[in-house]
Amino acid sequence: MARPRVTQSGRAVTLPASIIGLAAAYFVAGKFGLSLAFVNTSTTAVWPPTGISLAALLLLGVRVWPGVLLGAFLTNITTTGDPVSSAGIALGNTLEALVGAYLVRRFANGARAFERPQNVLKFAFLGAVVSAVVSATIGAATLALSGLAPWSDLGPIWSTWWLGDAGGALIFAPVLLTWATLEIRELSWRPLERLALIGAVIATGLLLFGGIGPLSPSNDPLAFLCFPALIWAAYRFGPREAATAVILLALIADWGTLHGFGPFARSDQNQSLIFLQAFMGVATVTSLVLAAAVVDRQRAQETIQKTEQRLRLVAEESARTREEFLSIATHELRTPVAALRGYIQLGQQSLDRGQHERLRGTLKVALRQTDRLATLIGQLLDASQMQAGRLKLERNPADISALVSGAVDAERLATEARPWVVQIEPGLRASADAVRFEQVVVNLLDNAIKFSPSGGTVTTRLRAEDGELRLEVSDQGIGIAPDRVMRIFERFYRAHDDRGIGGLGLGLYISKQIVELHGGQIEVSSEPGRGTTFTVTIPRLPASATVLRPAASVHGRTGRVLVVDDDREIRALVVEVLRDAGLAVVTAADGNEALAEAARFSPDVIILDRLMPGMDGTEFARLYRATGEPAPIIAFCAARDAAAWAKSIAAVGFIGKPFDVKDLERMVLEHLPATA
Ligand code: ADP
Repeated sequence: MARPRVTQSGRAVTLPASIIGLAAAYFVAGKFGLSLAFVNTSTTAVWPPTGISLAALLLLGVRVWPGVLLGAFLTNITTTGDPVSSAGIALGNTLEALVGAYLVRRFANGARAFERPQNVLKFAFLGAVVSAVVSATIGAATLALSGLAPWSDLGPIWSTWWLGDAGGALIFAPVLLTWATLEIRELSWRPLERLALIGAVIATGLLLFGGIGPLSPSNDPLAFLCFPALIWAAYRFGPREAATAVILLALIADWGTLHGFGPFARSDQNQSLIFLQAFMGVATVTSLVLAAAVVDRQRAQETIQKTEQRLRLVAEESARTREEFLSIATHELRTPVAALRGYIQLGQQSLDRGQHERLRGTLKVALRQTDRLATLIGQLLDASQMQAGRLKLERNPADISALVSGAVDAERLATEARPWVVQIEPGLRASADAVRFEQVVVNLLDNAIKFSPSGGTVTTRLRAEDGELRLEVSDQGIGIAPDRVMRIFERFYRAHDDRGIGGLGLGLYISKQIVELHGGQIEVSSEPGRGTTFTVTIPRLPASATVLRPAASVHGRTGRVLVVDDDREIRALVVEVLRDAGLAVVTAADGNEALAEAARFSPDVIILDRLMPGMDGTEFARLYRATGEPAPIIAFCAARDAAAWAKSIAAVGFIGKPFDVKDLERMVLEHLPATA
């Protein structure tokens, strides 16, 4: 209960205290300024209160303006005894402070104006030169109107007033503003040099203005000798020291000039102070600009250093990631190759010994290893394509229910027996790239199996929810540690790399990109030791959307096939498969040969590779079509390009490499003309 009251009363006390404090400071400084008044009792060429007011409004906020009003009023009424003119002058000084503070805040970065050269110049112009016009004009007019000064003196009064206020703002405000942000430890920086600097500033002041030594009594024009000390302060230290050096010098110079010493002393004391004030104003701006430029440069250097450091770290990190990736990739690719080689040797042995059952088993494993290899290579290519932003989807209305069921069935057949729960709402559709979306489903199923080494149910659910399709794949496997789960969609990230479970850490990265290209999202929730659930949502199509169906399978066809491919092994394999299916097959190794064979053999279907030495597949397709007797062409190239290229050459279908011999056979049979 007590606390808020303390805070409230504390806050309530702060503002009046600030206002009274400001009024008191104004009063003391004003009395000092007026002690130097020569033109008129209220007009002086040195007016520190302007600097105090401006600094106070910038540091404490404009709400302390009554302090200026009060301080100015008291200063003047105790000087002239005339309440009306004192009120007018006080109003002028208050408006001056408000205008100055507003302009400096708005255009010169407020209390931090001294950190950039351009802001110092704006501060000098707006906070001193312009705002002093307000007070000089109102003040001089008040004096004339109230009869405290003759109208004929208005010119000198105005200019003295203006110069006094502008100089006060220029010389006093920077000191207050820069010292207000002092951190004590900054004073311990270069202590000896700091002492030497203070000594040099005082010595310069005394020699030039203090009546000590031969220089100051002679009144020679040697004011420029101030600059070495001021430049030293600005260049070696900064804005605070520059502003302090100026004020030290100004105080000595004011005293000395009034006592007839130094370059600005004249018989007319007001004129002396005007000269001095003008000189000090220019010296202040010059050294503050220099100090700000030095700060600016230091800051730029620091930024460059930090950026360099960051870039170095990034480069080191990326080199490390590359190394790590290469070692993982090499290991991951080598493993299936080693297994493949081993099983093929085993197969040879089985063949030699006539062990056909064993041969069948080894071939099955070899086939699985080939798939694994093809998946890894496919992931690497996909990831690099995604990284370059080149992955494009071919989206069509697709039956996602059928797609997911098919993927689950295939996975069940290909893996060891385990409990499966499959809940798929039939007939759910989406605009999807079927090949790519299937890749996501297969990856999630593969992971569910891979990361459940001791078995456990794999659950697949697909349902419609608020205009979206929601696919969930859950397992009861090893789960993912909470601090790692956030990273599993990153490229090359593997949360279980210490457990010897294979993988490149790319599958989920690729899946996420694919899902997002479908306008959907993929999420994960996992409990270590209990299992993981991945949830994919993508926008759904209404049930009425037409779905592209694969062409119905055909039986009882016969025909002639031309196989065009530059790779001898692949040609031999295709020939074998198709001849087994009872077809007549001829081959060609490039486009030219293929044109000749096509003319001679009149094929019913052409299987066409894309990249070949000599004439490539694209050129062959163009020339062959021009012959006027075109058999359907089946595009036969690397899986990634297959669909797009098939479309570009108007092929009837495509087979992506690596391929399944059964798919090849089915595709060719589908496109042969019926015998009957
Ligand atoms: P990987 O080829 O390594 O499986 P993914 O990108 O598919 O690459 O998965 C990234 C990582 O996420 C995996 O290495 C694994 O640590 C973790 N992860 C993915 N799916 C599962 C899951 N079902 N259960 C536990 N951890 C998983």
